[in-house]
Amino acid sequence: MRESFRCETCGKSYSSRVSLNHHSKMHAGATTCALCGRVSSRVADLRTHLKVVHKLSAQEIRALVPTREKYHFFGVPPLAGAPQPRPQ
Ligand SMILES: [Zn+2]
Ligand SMILES: [Zn+2]
Repeated sequence: MRESFRCETCGKSYSSRVSLNHHSKMHAGATTCALCGRVSSRVADLRTHLKVVHKLSAQEIRALVPTREKYHFFGVPPLAGAPQPRPQ
């Protein structure tokens, strides 16, 4: 029996947790281009999009695209102005 990881938001299943993790970021808005609103399927694709389409530098891309450190647990973006949940 194959283990699968299902997205609780849209029901899509993935064969690995990593793929589901990438996919979850899409629902969280982490792959939406802040400049033109294009939604990429993965954060890495958004970075490429910013570089190729908007000609941004690596530093500018880092400022726009949330890095892993900003996500304490996958799929949940920190809300602006809301208190940050702290791991116990
Ligand atoms: Zn989904
Ligand atoms: Zn764009």
